[in-house]
Order: sequence, then structure tokens, then C-alpha cells
Amino acid sequence: MLAHRVQPAIRGLRAYDPGHDLVALRRAASEALIELGSNENPWGPSPEAREAVTRHLDELALYPDPRGGDLKRALARQHGVGIEQVVLGNGSHELLMQLAQVFAGPGAGVVASQYGFAVYAIAAAAVGAAFRAAPALPMDHAMAAGHDLDAIVAAIDADTHLVYLANPNNPTGTWFGAQGLERFLARIPADTVVAIDEAYAEFVDAREWASAIALVAKHPNLIVLRTFSKAHGLAGLRVGYGIAQPELIGWLERVRESFNVNLIGLAAAQASLGDPQHLADGVRKNNVERMRLAGDLRSRGLFVFPSQTNFLLVRFGEGASRIDDALRERGIVLRPMGGYGLPDCLRITVGTAEQNAKLLAALDAVR
Ligand SMILES: *Cc1c(COP(=O)(O)O)cnc(C)c1O
Repeated sequence: MLAHRVQPAIRGLRAYDPGHDLVALRRAASEALIELGSNENPWGPSPEAREAVTRHLDELALYPDPRGGDLKRALARQHGVGIEQVVLGNGSHELLMQLAQVFAGPGAGVVASQYGFAVYAIAAAAVGAAFRAAPALPMDHAMAAGHDLDAIVAAIDADTHLVYLANPNNPTGTWFGAQGLERFLARIPADTVVAIDEAYAEFVDAREWASAIALVAKHPNLIVLRTFSKAHGLAGLRVGYGIAQPELIGWLERVRESFNVNLIGLAAAQASLGDPQHLADGVRKNNVERMRLAGDLRSRGLFVFPSQTNFLLVRFGEGASRIDDALRERGIVLRPMGGYGLPDCLRITVGTAEQNAKLLAALDAVR
């Protein structure tokens, strides 16, 4: 009845697909599920973040700091930028949406890569902008299905207001190096905003990779997005941030909901920054398990995409969906990839050694 009142772009929009219904699955399960579908941190947040949560429970009746000043200062110090170069989001998902709201719109183009994060296309459609996906690198490339930076440059035209690019990428796990990034940015028009989404930056150990944050000083059209959801283990609290030059941050601040990051999230994120040892321990454990799990899957004849993240994209072939179902019946939840145009693949979050061993045993039983 209201369809004719809905903005045309939103009428055609399909909501973000969060994967299997975990709440229903948990309710139906007789024992704890092994949840490897959402790239959450199996080792959990810093004890200091947990302590910060309880410390602020007496303040729940109060609004949070609308400026998030303490967290911004901590982030600015950590990244060697000014406080006016930091914007906070209710998860980086919110910032991805805000970027489209501010810089795109009807008549504007938004460019990303094939197999890019699903939110980019949603953000573009939500504001009525035209979304274009540049073809990814071929499957037989060393960086199978990774971003083809030349193809992305070629997809940009005079109407392209915004480019989204994850490095490393979700759902492929692939990445590109510092040289490629610098050459890429040099070829982008000065008034096309480039959002480099570094949600998995903390997990990277590839030498050729470098954060784009160091390039913000040189590129007024660059914003780098980070999150506390992955390596910091705080997905439930919804805290993300962006780093850019003050002008770009200022435009985003205009549409930011005044209390977008909640009081508990602000406190926990700040405490987590104060415990770099916990972060490093979690990253080290992830990277050990990532390498071991990739090896174990490859030794079973499966194609595992190269990954610098806390997940692996694995090609199971025609049986992918059946295997996903069979694993779920055994209490193991993975992420199907049909929505990304990769129906023969499943995405597997790297779990603890125990979780990964159970996954492999179940895989051997159902394949
Ligand atoms: C998980 C993820 C995010 C982070 O989302 P939050 O809203 O911060 O939880 C952003 N980008 C990519 C590519 C991701 O995989």
C-alpha cells in the first residue's frame, strides 16, 4: 500500500543478509553451537574492556558523550593524527552508509569491486546512487578473486563520487600491497572520495601490506575505516571509526546522529586500546590457527583463497550448500556465499584450535 511512497531505489533494495538465523539455531540446539559464520573473535575482548563495561553500569540513565572525545583522543594518539581527523560510528557499517549519504545520491555513481563487502552496494542503493562493481582478479590469479585495482580505476568516470575498497577484503580475505595502493590513489580524481575499509587490518602479517592511514595526509579525498568488531572482539557493542582530513570528517559529522556511539561502547573501546597485549595475543592466535586451518583444508583437496583476515573463503564445489546444511545439523554454523555470487564457496571464521578441529572432523564426516 505504501510502495509508491518508497524511494524507487529502496523499493528495489534487498536488506543485508546476515547469514543463518543464529538466535533460532541457538534456541533449537541441545549444546553450544560452533559459530564460524560472522568473523567474530573467538577469544573475546580484553578483560579491561569487560571491566570498563561494568564500571559504567551506573551511568545507563545518562546520555553518552555526544563527541566521544576521550575515545577520539585515544584513537588520534594511536594513529598519529589530530582529534579532528577522527569520526566515530555505530560500527563502521554506519560510517559506510553515511559516506554514501554525504557524497553520493541520485545521479552519482559509486564504484566497488566484484566480491566486495555487501554493504557497499546497499549504501549506494539506499541513497539512489548508481552502483558499479569492477570485475575482480581471475580465479587462477595468485590473489584469486581479489581486487583488480586497474579495473576499479577503469570503472571510475566523471560521475563517480565514491569508491569503496576493503583491504583486506571480506568475503575473499584477499589484500593488496602498499605500492598498489599508492599507485591506485594517484590515479583517482581528487574529488572522488575513496573509502578504504580496513576492518581486518590488525590481522595482517603480509610484509607488502600497509595501512592507508599513512596516506591520509596526502589525500584529502581518502577516508580509512576501522572497527572494534573484529580483532578487538567487541562486535556486540557496535563501535567503528574513520580517519581522514578534517574537511572530510566535517562533512560526515553533519549527518551523524548526535549520540550514535553508546556509553558502554565508548568506554569499552577506549579500554581495549589500553590493552595492546590482549589484542596482539588474539591476533597471534588467529594467525597461527589461520595458517593451520588453511593447510588442513588444502590437504583435503579444497581450494582456500589467500587470506590476511580472521576467516577463510573455501571452495567446496557443487556440494557447498549441502555441506553447509549438514554441518549446521552438527551444530557448526558457516556463512553461505550465494549472495556474493560464490554459491560454490563457504566462508569460515578461524576459530580456536578446538573449534577448528571439530569443524574438520565434522567436514570429514559429511563430505
Ligand atoms: C565486519 C566488517 C565491517 C565492520 O562492521 P562493524 O559495523 O564495524 O561491525 C566493515 N567492513 C567489512 C569489510 C567487514 O567485514
